[in-house]
Amino acid sequence: MLSGYAVQVERSRGRRFPEPQHPYRNDFQRDRDRVIHARAFRRLEDKTQVFTRRYSDHFRNRLTHTIEVAQITRTVAGALELNVDLAEALALVHDIGHPPFGHAGEKALDAAMRAQGLFFDHNLHALRIVEDFEQRYAAFRGLNLTFEVREGIIKHSRDYDAALYPELAEYVLDQRPPLEAQLIDFTDEIGYDTADLDDGYEAHLLTLDQIRAGVPVFERFFREVECAYPNVADKLKFNETNKRVLNRLADDLISNTRGQLEQHGIHTLGDVRAHESRLAGFSPEIDRERRQVKDFLYDNLYYSHALADEKEDAERVISDLFAFWMENPSALPNAYREKAEHESLPRVICDYIAGMTDHFINDQYERYCGGKAR
Ligand code: MG
Repeated sequence: MLSGYAVQVERSRGRRFPEPQHPYRNDFQRDRDRVIHARAFRRLEDKTQVFTRRYSDHFRNRLTHTIEVAQITRTVAGALELNVDLAEALALVHDIGHPPFGHAGEKALDAAMRAQGLFFDHNLHALRIVEDFEQRYAAFRGLNLTFEVREGIIKHSRDYDAALYPELAEYVLDQRPPLEAQLIDFTDEIGYDTADLDDGYEAHLLTLDQIRAGVPVFERFFREVECAYPNVADKLKFNETNKRVLNRLADDLISNTRGQLEQHGIHTLGDVRAHESRLAGFSPEIDRERRQVKDFLYDNLYYSHALADEKEDAERVISDLFAFWMENPSALPNAYREKAEHESLPRVICDYIAGMTDHFINDQYERYCGGKAR
């Protein structure tokens, strides 16, 4: 049962290269499966989410983060009677354009590109991956995904100015993306806010007292859990609380989005697209609580002293390698040397680095920059 404002697969704007229908998978299911089978998707397994160094075997990497976001997205999209296949495909592809070393890696790569008068954007990079870099099919380059999945890759988390990005004109930048895409920014945050609390606690970089004092929504649920389960271990109390925080955020995303749709009289996908602003989101109250979680994580984890060395290493490895290949393009692999004959060298180097796993880029650093990445 899909609502009137859901994307209907029968009304998809289709693929760049028309293909016959599959006998028992619809086009969005096929797109989801194409993402899962992509090489760039498998490489997420060795890309940092938050922690470059493995404090334990239980830590998220970008792949497990992605799977968690897909789970939350399916639940929320289903509750809102949206197209779960499309939403799931978008969740699975949402981080595919991320370079190695998490946020620090992205910053370093962008800085190296800006020094060349260019920039790095992970959504645009994701689009290049699915449109061009993945080569699985004899009939076309890329994954030949439907319009709605490509549009969602570009528009799920931010708006692009049509004047600055003429190459994105086909993605109707003056319209809002479907709700299936709008959701991803929020389910992504629900996923990483709760997962980063968990990993930070597990790594002993955050203490329970610190989290309780710094995250009001956590503290509220923790008191509930302490009353219900006074005698269980702290870690179980933590898990039970964190699960309730996650539920609270997901519940609110569903009920508030539903409320927005009612309030603005949204009945069709056309209404969603034409609306002046995005309709998916948290209520003001929960948005405040979500902000507190995020601020807490920035102050106590992402910018913590404990992770400073990792970040410095990440930035050094990326900027040194970028500089090395700028000076020694002949050391690039053949395929990239050939690409550099008709594309700008910085862009080719950026594409190469962005695709790397943490492990591979560390090897390259040892090989070409003579240093040992810690
Ligand atoms: Mg993400």
